[in-house]
Amino acid sequence: MTDAVIDRPEPRRKTISSPYIHKLQRRHFLLFDVAPILGTAAAVAFLWVHPFGWTEAGLLVGFWLLTGLGVTVGYHRLFTHRTFKAAPSVEVALAVLGSMAGQGAVISWVALHRRHHEFSDREGDPHSPNLSGGGFVGAVKGLAHSHFLWMRRHEYPNVVHYAPDLIKNRRLVRVARLYYWWVALGLAVPALIGGLVDLSWQGAVSGLLWGGLVRIFVLEHIVWAINSGLHMVGTRPYESRENSRNGGIFALLTLGESWHNNHHAFPESPSFGLDWYRLDPGFWLIRALQTGGLASDLKTPSPERRQARRARPAGAES
Ligand SMILES: [Zn+2]
Ligand SMILES: [Zn+2]
Repeated sequence: MTDAVIDRPEPRRKTISSPYIHKLQRRHFLLFDVAPILGTAAAVAFLWVHPFGWTEAGLLVGFWLLTGLGVTVGYHRLFTHRTFKAAPSVEVALAVLGSMAGQGAVISWVALHRRHHEFSDREGDPHSPNLSGGGFVGAVKGLAHSHFLWMRRHEYPNVVHYAPDLIKNRRLVRVARLYYWWVALGLAVPALIGGLVDLSWQGAVSGLLWGGLVRIFVLEHIVWAINSGLHMVGTRPYESRENSRNGGIFALLTLGESWHNNHHAFPESPSFGLDWYRLDPGFWLIRALQTGGLASDLKTPSPERRQARRARPAGAES
């Protein structure tokens, strides 16, 4: 009997905490979360050397769009929630573009985000703004934690538990292993384009700053604002057990991610807007891929299912 007890494998741990992992998290935080802030300040200072022109605007918007779609369509809708199936080439392209955003390697990002959905706004949620105490001070603390500070050090979700499907995908594992190289590529390409267009080193530095670091800064703060702000303020058309909200006004800027209450209510849906008139550029890309035969099995929720989840006015009973 005793042997049987000893031989029984330990239950699989859902999160891992070790000094080594926390060291990596601190390094990642400094390199990809703090450095873009400094890079943005440097970009403004560099305007004295090189003006902000069409090249800088094109690099900033172009790379923001490419990497932002990589995150929302690839990291989030495809890999985390499996809302559609994509051709292998599309999987790799989206994973690489998402990696360039500097928000973590694809498999870790997915594991963290699945944990966010599992524990939304409860103990265990990696980035809830609602667990830092009550009152104004609690709200400010919660906002700072969920927007930015949680990334300094957090429990690492065990990918064996949270992403068993992804660690079996060899292409994706290979992309994830090269994560730092993809971020570097996302900095090198705009620098190269900036240098070639302007035929000067100033053009290259300007391209690196605007198409690289400022672009990472802008996209990060947009994504983080969803973690923080849209678990605090906004509309709640659907019942869901956490405090997620919609912020329709930010739909274009967030490429559709700001339909966050819709998303928590129907995480299996490739469309976050749910209705054609709610702007959702991420879903437009999925539809375009579907038209081109590169995406299939879109799991859009039925009107009945949506009706059943509708939030009822306060006081009304079902
Ligand atoms: Zn999600
Ligand atoms: Zn959320």
